[in-house]
This record gives sequence, structure tokens and C-alpha cells, in this order.
Amino acid sequence: MALLYKSTRGDKNYITASQAILKGIADDGGLYVPEAVPKIDFELSEILNMDYKALAYRVLRIVLDDFTEEELKACINGAYDEKFDTPLIAPLRETTDCGVLELFHGKTIAFKDMALSILPYLLKTSARKNGEDRQIVILTATSGDTGKAALEGFADVEGTGIIVFFPQDGVSDVQRKQMVTQEGKNTCVAGIHGNFDDCQTAVKKAFTDKALKEELAEKGYVFSSANSINIGRLAPQIVYYFYAYAQMVKAGRVNMGENINFVVPTGNFGNILAGYYAKNMGLPVDKLICASNENKVLYDFFNTGEYNADREFILTSSPSMDILISSNLERLLYHLSDAETVSGKMKQLTGQGSYSFSAKDKSFIGEYSTEAETFGIIKEVFEKEGYVLDTHTAVAYNSYKKYKAETGDETPTVVVSTASPFKFAKDVLAAIDEKYVGIDPFEAVRKLSEVSKASVPTPIKDIEKRPVLHNTCIEREEIEDFIKSKLK
Ligand SMILES: *Cc1c(COP(=O)(O)O)cnc(C)c1O
Repeated sequence: MALLYKSTRGDKNYITASQAILKGIADDGGLYVPEAVPKIDFELSEILNMDYKALAYRVLRIVLDDFTEEELKACINGAYDEKFDTPLIAPLRETTDCGVLELFHGKTIAFKDMALSILPYLLKTSARKNGEDRQIVILTATSGDTGKAALEGFADVEGTGIIVFFPQDGVSDVQRKQMVTQEGKNTCVAGIHGNFDDCQTAVKKAFTDKALKEELAEKGYVFSSANSINIGRLAPQIVYYFYAYAQMVKAGRVNMGENINFVVPTGNFGNILAGYYAKNMGLPVDKLICASNENKVLYDFFNTGEYNADREFILTSSPSMDILISSNLERLLYHLSDAETVSGKMKQLTGQGSYSFSAKDKSFIGEYSTEAETFGIIKEVFEKEGYVLDTHTAVAYNSYKKYKAETGDETPTVVVSTASPFKFAKDVLAAIDEKYVGIDPFEAVRKLSEVSKASVPTPIKDIEKRPVLHNTCIEREEIEDFIKSKLK
């Protein structure tokens, strides 16, 4: 029986995976979810003998079940190749405390590459399967890393165009530079005066604006999304939870079949939700520890049942987690309740900035780390283990230590590492040694290489010398006009 997807907000249409990928977001503003989370159709122990691509195929054929074997394998082979700097794709490192799943070996040295290197292939295949011959325009709001990863994924992909909006003052210098130097005839990048939530809300609005959609359809364009609201982003992320588990077994840190915990540095709730899907598909996972920075809306939610986005937005050293409206939480709410409840809650969120939700899932634990704790753990792990954490991973690592101290839970654990420390070199260096506070961000990249005795990752080598190709900055109200001006 085919696996179908439907909106979290009650739209009665059931559609296939490829249709959901093409649409990105449902017409009623909801997100697409599988009608029921399917189970794996292989013995778990088989994962020990699969490389990343083989495992990706076995998992994706279950969740994207209207793709043929040939289609899926072509997508997977196109994505997980030499673009990654290790054939392992997502290697597991070990510290005395835990395993660390490194998801930053792709082209933009952050975990978004795991999904965005395959999304263009999935989207093109979905278009072909569904007879969609208009040009697909990817609209993306980014807190820093999605933008660059999506630009890299879609640059010069025939039949597509990509427009990225980022908060002008809410990303790191390296992140900004990576985006504004993007090449590719079909790429477009603009800074927004506002924070990430402003960008995301404006982009979601453009998506569901009927008049805009019709106007552009006449010109031969159709929108899709590269944000984690697109199920085509989430599905590929399920794979590495299985892959991490296999590596934990091989490392002797857990016996096949026993539970492990994952700690995930969380912003939009996409990564950790993929972990939840992995668990529900049959991966032995006990706790999913949702780690927040000082924008700790999710920590409060998991501890009190109240989601309250009506608070100060704090700019931290982990900008990709500076989010107050975590879109994918809507999917979890749906799985724990129903469409009617979800649309009610989402209306409250838009109207009054908060809602409460009582049905708890014991899988999730909320934790958070302050800026001081984040800097402290970077220094500690570097000094004790010679291993450098990026600021986001550090939030998770420290949250794990807090969780363990509070509960005594000895379950073998994987901290999910979402970025290379080189991407946030300025803050990472300042954490390691105060004398680097205030260092030039690009000088910091070279210095970090010296201090950590690791070479600068190729994607950001000499990045400050690259020419700026995009230097527009607009108000959030101008987003729709900007889109129209780019799509003539
Ligand atoms: C996007 C991102 C996150 C947050 O992931 P979500 O799926 O949005 O929860 C964490 N760390 C880094 C480095 C990221 O780029």
C-alpha cells in the first residue's frame, strides 16, 4: 500500500511523497506529514553492512515510496559523492562522554548539506514524475546555513531558480560571506532588516499568497521550498540516525538492539524530528534531547507544556538556532494529536504568540545552554580531548552533560554535530582562549587551523577574497515585490 502524505492542518487531500516534495507546504499553510510513520522493512542488524548510500536507499524507499528504485538510486548517487570530504559521509567521532556524529563534511560545512545535496535531485525527479514543466523557484528563509547549502545544491540546476533571504545582522561573517559570493546564473540572495522569524514568516506568507502564485504561474513559475518545512528535507535526515547507530555498535559503545539517546542542537525542530521518525520506524532510541541556546522556547515547552514565542529574540553565538518559531514542532503536535488541534494551536501562535499543549511524548527532553556554558564546554572539550566543537554542537554537548548530571542516565549517547568549528571560528577561538576575543573573523579561520592543528576546510579557504555578487538588503515588507522583480 502506498504511503501518502497529508497536511497537519486538515486539508483533506492525500498526496504522494513526490507531490509533497514539489509543493513544499500545503495550501492551508500546514506541513505535509506521512499519514502514519512506516516501519523499517529490514532486519536492524543489516545496517552494519551498509555504506551510507546503501542505507540511504533502504530508508528512503520506505518514506518516499512512489520513487522507483532507479530514480532513488540516481538521486542518492548524485548527492553523496566526492562533494563530501570523506567517503563515510557522516563519520562518528568519540569522546570519553559520548559519540559525536559529524554532519559537516559536505560542501558548506554544516549539516544542511546532508539533505540539500539530495533535495535538488528529489525535486527534479518529482517534477518529472508529476508532469510539472514550469520552472521551479526555490524560496528559502535562512538562519545562516540552509541558505548557502540550498544555493550550492541548486546553483545552475536546469529548470530551477533559487531565492534566499537571510537576516542581515543575524548570521556569522563567514555565513554571510559564503552566501553573498555565491555563483550560478539562477541564484539570488538578499539580506532582510529583521530576524530569522521575520524572514521565515514573510517567506511562508509568499508561499500561501494565492494572487502571487497565480501571477507567477502565468509566467511559467512554480514555488517550492528548501526549508525543513519540505518533507524532502526531512526524509534524507532520517538516514543518518540509523547510520550513527550502526557506528555506535561497531565502536562497541552499544549492543545491537539496545537503546541509545541522541542530543540534537535544535532551531527549527527539523533535525530532531527526523530522529523521532527514525525512532518510530524502529531504531532503538530512548531519549531525544532537544538542546536550545538562550532562545529556549523549546526547553520551556517541553518542561511546562506552554509554547511562548512572545519574548525577546536573543542573538547568540549559535545563530542557526536563534529561532523562536520552530516550524517543525507542528509536525510533532500533529503526530501527538490531530489536525483540528494543530490548526487551533497555530492560530493561537499567530494571534497571541503562544499556546499550550498537554499531550506529552516521553521521548523528548528539553535542555538548554547559556552562552557562558557554551563557551566553557568548547574550552573544556578542547583541553581534555583535543577535539574542537563548533558553537551549535557545543550547546548540545553541554546540554547533554547537564542532562546526565541531573538524571544519572548512563544510556550510550550520540551528540549530533551540525557544523564545522571553522564556520564559527571567531567565537570558537575566543572560547578556547580569551586573548582571541575581537579577532577578525577571517583571521580567526587561519588561527583556528594553527591552534587545532587541522587544515582549513576547502569550501571556506580564502573566502574573504572572493567577490561579492549579491549585495541587496531589503525590508521584510518588500519580499514579494523583490520576488516579482526577479521573476520576469
Ligand atoms: C540549521 C542548524 C541547526 C538547527 O537545525 P534544525 O533542523 O533547524 O533544528 C543547528 N545547527 C546548525 C549548525 C544548523 O545549521
